[in-house]
Amino acid sequence: MIHIAHWIGGAERPGTSGRVGPVFNPATGEQSAEVDLASTAEVDGAVAIAKEAAKGWRSASLSKRSAVVFTFRELLAARTGELAAIITAEHGKVLADAAGEVARGLENVEFATGIPHLMKGSFSEQAATGVDVYSIRQPLGVVAGITPFNFPAMVPLWMCATAIAAGNSFVLKPSEKDPSAALWLARLWAEAGLPEGVFTVLNGDKEAVDALLVHPDVAAVSFVGSTPIAKYIYETGTAHGKRVQALGGAKNHMVVLPDAELDAAADAAINAGYGAAGERCMAISVVVAVGEIADPLVEAIAARLPKLKIGNGADAGVDMGPLISAAHKEKVIGYIEAGEREGATVLADGRKDEISDKSGYFLGTTLLDNVTPEMTVYTDEIFGPVLSVVRVDTYAEALQLVNDNEYGNGTAIFTRDGGAARQFQFDVNAGMVGINVPIPVPVAYYSFGGWKASLFGDSHMYGPEGISFFTRGKVVTSRWPDPGTSAIDLGFPQTR
Ligand code: NAD
Repeated sequence: MIHIAHWIGGAERPGTSGRVGPVFNPATGEQSAEVDLASTAEVDGAVAIAKEAAKGWRSASLSKRSAVVFTFRELLAARTGELAAIITAEHGKVLADAAGEVARGLENVEFATGIPHLMKGSFSEQAATGVDVYSIRQPLGVVAGITPFNFPAMVPLWMCATAIAAGNSFVLKPSEKDPSAALWLARLWAEAGLPEGVFTVLNGDKEAVDALLVHPDVAAVSFVGSTPIAKYIYETGTAHGKRVQALGGAKNHMVVLPDAELDAAADAAINAGYGAAGERCMAISVVVAVGEIADPLVEAIAARLPKLKIGNGADAGVDMGPLISAAHKEKVIGYIEAGEREGATVLADGRKDEISDKSGYFLGTTLLDNVTPEMTVYTDEIFGPVLSVVRVDTYAEALQLVNDNEYGNGTAIFTRDGGAARQFQFDVNAGMVGINVPIPVPVAYYSFGGWKASLFGDSHMYGPEGISFFTRGKVVTSRWPDPGTSAIDLGFPQTR
């Protein structure tokens, strides 16, 4: 049995809490490892080391920090396959998808290599006579990242690349379901020359998270996970004086207008609905078919489903892997049952796919038509290979549906009409919008974040907002007086 420890002070450290959690290979259903679960005392010890390390790291020159990030980038690019295999073995997604996840994380590392430019302040000469004013940005100290199971490498990279480049120490609490990728990243940072203690991995569950949330030396918490936990993280972290960005769950709608290119829309619905077995926060879970395109669109989606190869993500030619756990599989099946009970038309039933009977947490693809907004398959984030189709008559109804939804992570519109697309972009209440693009995850030099129940806090993740989140501003007003002009004046300083 593989034992997964913590990474503290630049080395692997076995846990001392006596608590461990199981890690499974979702494609076989077999336990592959056990992971240490940190106690509050272990969190305290690791944060103390990270705090010391932060002092030295913020003093390292911008070019030194950038060089370490650059080396990390080179190593990561060269060993993508190694990390992808680790992701597939614990998460289940297919290898190509895992490599895609690493590639998107790599973009964030590349962005962070530009830290000398990103940390630049501004300078105003002669703000008053003989007075200059300038702004600088400084790191916060120790910052924490708490991440979900579904992107065990990309989401940590969203956070740590900018946090570290900006001069912070970064403490990662990865998902206990697939923790090996985090340890692998820790070893890579060490190899890239990052000083000990600047990157820490604390494996654990609620106890470790709670210890980080109340720790006086943790200045900021970056969180990605489900909405109820995101809300809890935001409320608890901010109540303890921390800066918090907490990204939550999603229910992403893809609006298909009658003039859309049918095959492209059907392909997009398949890719974005069933990729990673629907376990993506930017997965399309609702297709909103507007007007007469509904029948041909549903037919085109249904016709594509039998062509998908479901199996072990490590095997060549497989399109879709298993779900993360037995419990999650049961939960997704429960939603399909509810959808059927509440009157949805089950056009494809993943429960009946023979793959669903195999060992491992496989579930076939499900397509539900005639879904209505009251059904639980519509209201809840299912996070599985289940695509719902809601039929509406007009663009206005489609828009209303998206805007009334509790979540506002991503959304997409498929149309050939530029004016309609532009109107949608103007009207829609969501943080990320795709125009004929089903999964509009922004490139690393923009920022990622949803609206409504998909994000708590006011800062989006990575890119310019990431730099701003992991640094704080200071404004310096300076005068180098000519001794001959100095005088006593108790009036409030003015610039004129
Ligand atoms: P989760 O909320 O169960 O877990 C996320 C993290 O929180 C994990 O590290 C976990 O250990 C910790 N955690 C869980 N329960 C906790 C508790 N009671 N107290 C303190 N900490 C706790 O999420 P998950 O199942 O790992 O990930 C899937 C969810 O993440 C989905 O809802 C998905 O939409 C969301 N997600 C959102 C985004 C986004 O960018 N908005 C990206 C990826 C995933």
